[in-house]
Amino acid sequence: MQALIIAIGSELTTGEILDTNSQWLSRELNARGIWVRRTMTITDDLDLIVESLCASTETVVITSGGLGPTIDDRTRDAVAKFLGVELEYHESVWDDIQAKFKAFGREAPENNKKQAYIPAGATLLENRFGTASCFAAKMGDRLLFSLPGVPRELKGMFAEACLPMIDDFLMDSGAPAGKIATRLIRIFGMSEAAVDQALADFFEESDARSVGLMASDGVINVRIATRGGPRELDAISEGVRSRIGGSVFGEGGDTLESVVIAECVKRGFKVATVESCTGGLVASRLTDVPGSSDAMMEGLVVYSNEAKTRLAGVDPSIIEKHGAVSAETAEALASSYQKLSGADLVIATTGIAGPGGGSFEKPVGLCYVAACLRGQTEVRKVQFPHDRISNKDRFAKCALDLARRLLHLDSPVFPGISC
Ligand code: AMP
Ligand code: MG
Repeated sequence: MQALIIAIGSELTTGEILDTNSQWLSRELNARGIWVRRTMTITDDLDLIVESLCASTETVVITSGGLGPTIDDRTRDAVAKFLGVELEYHESVWDDIQAKFKAFGREAPENNKKQAYIPAGATLLENRFGTASCFAAKMGDRLLFSLPGVPRELKGMFAEACLPMIDDFLMDSGAPAGKIATRLIRIFGMSEAAVDQALADFFEESDARSVGLMASDGVINVRIATRGGPRELDAISEGVRSRIGGSVFGEGGDTLESVVIAECVKRGFKVATVESCTGGLVASRLTDVPGSSDAMMEGLVVYSNEAKTRLAGVDPSIIEKHGAVSAETAEALASSYQKLSGADLVIATTGIAGPGGGSFEKPVGLCYVAACLRGQTEVRKVQFPHDRISNKDRFAKCALDLARRLLHLDSPVFPGISC
């Protein structure tokens, strides 16, 4: 089965906004065995939208954007013109829009009423993520979906409304039986090439299952898709986990920080951070996790050497002898602050994010991360080639990963890291 994605919006073609919806939809569709044959990005031009729909041959066509209430939102009209039908008013949608505005103590502007119109004969897809009403329409033996441009709404609507319809459609059209179930396995601390090599046999395997690899900012995601039901999904997951080992940190929406927080909450541990080069990023990530207050105690940003001593209790002679960016200082930050704060787990960073400040011995991108769990301290040296912001991001992830490995005693603490 083939699909076409049409991203509609003049802000996309002028380069103001990057079309992330097509990327996201492509991944979701491909993971379900629906081959995205092409994606198009076009302006909010009614005739161009109609023309693009007329030229489509794919079984599933998804448009994104142009469903807003303003004059430049023309997808509704274009789809109606393409289908050769009028727009039809849905009172229930207008009631719903008014209720949504009322919930924020506001009156719905009259032009939002535009959103209560969809092409006659199309199936209304109720949008509980926003005000843009979405719809699905049959084009002979093909299927068309019009979804909102706002990425959060698009993702919600795709999962909630489109996928069940696509699954039914696939089955009706004689595709192999069984809904496709997917799972994402999340890995940190290995390069993409190393993961690829470890899973080589899986990639060569049959049509009943598919395993895909995606790297994103240092995290490697292995996506499994199968029609074989939950047992098959578990079996493939287990196969991936056993080949990768302790570098698997979670599944689905798990993040390094959510895993650290979950483990600390489970064990009744308090966590604190003492950061130099990451400037509070580790604490920020930990506090991104809902419910983190059950484990998060405090966080220090000790940028200057003097602050490392005064606030974190680091012996100044350690910094003097080894330098602020050293395994010894990282170790001292974590262990001293663990004693001082009384937290069960302390996560520390010290490094050179760049672009300046590097030397031959201590180049830009070098960082020592440390984690101290009730007196047991581990330090890891990492080196990245990125710009300042990306380096900080990777340093913070490495620090969280080290803490995670220390908490999960079954994961080896010091793997050879190559990111
Ligand atoms: P629209 O549904 O066309 O009114 O789009 C609403 C907002 O969603 C736009 O202002 C953009 O910020 C965003 N948006 C629209 N299309 C995309 C896209 N393809 N990728 C990412 N963001 C988008
Ligand atoms: Mg738009």
